Amino acid sequence: MKQTIVFATGNAHKLQEINEIAQGSDIEFILPPDGFNPIEDGKTFEENSLIKAREAAHVSGNVSLADDSGLCVEALGGAPGIHSARYAQTAQARIDKLLGVLKDETNRKAKFVCAMTLVDKDGNILFQTRGECQGEISYTQSGTNGFGYDPVFLTKDTEYKKTMAEMSEEEKNKISHRGRALRKVLEYLNNN
Ligand code: IMP
Repeated sequence: MKQTIVFATGNAHKLQEINEIAQGSDIEFILPPDGFNPIEDGKTFEENSLIKAREAAHVSGNVSLADDSGLCVEALGGAPGIHSARYAQTAQARIDKLLGVLKDETNRKAKFVCAMTLVDKDGNILFQTRGECQGEISYTQSGTNGFGYDPVFLTKDTEYKKTMAEMSEEEKNKISHRGRALRKVLEYLNNN
């Protein structure tokens, strides 16, 4: 029988993505029960993932895993970073703002970051890790898959030839910050 771990999100799409990456392992991730309402006021991806994991453990009484992710752009001193989801009102507005702020900037270097924290049912940290995906911000958006900043993120893994929104889900999971972090969590769970 599969071990059940609560994944601290209200986003069913994210849960599906996580379970796809975990396919073939002995773990199944489930959504937290009603009442999951974390206040993400941490200053780092790690702090915010811990806040979410503890809130999920608190409302579920179960071992819980949380992620916190975002886009860090070198020429913007790492912005939007932990504020990626709130950079502008809509996904398209966030892309437009980013392309507008960067304009003709030639340093387009950027990375996606994902911190993950696993806690026991009492909220004690069992394991914390981070996955990163290096890339560049394109000058125009391209592709319709994925979400968030995917249409303007050219991945180093494809030698900057494809945006993340031009990849299949399977391709993205292999190289994404979330995929990289989750595989380390699964390795930890396998060995403990
Ligand atoms: P959170 O981890 O759910 O708080 O997500 C933070 C924000 O970072 C998202 O709303 C997106 O704007 C951005 N983000 C995180 N991961 C990705 C990704 O894989 N593709 C595109 N945008 C992402």
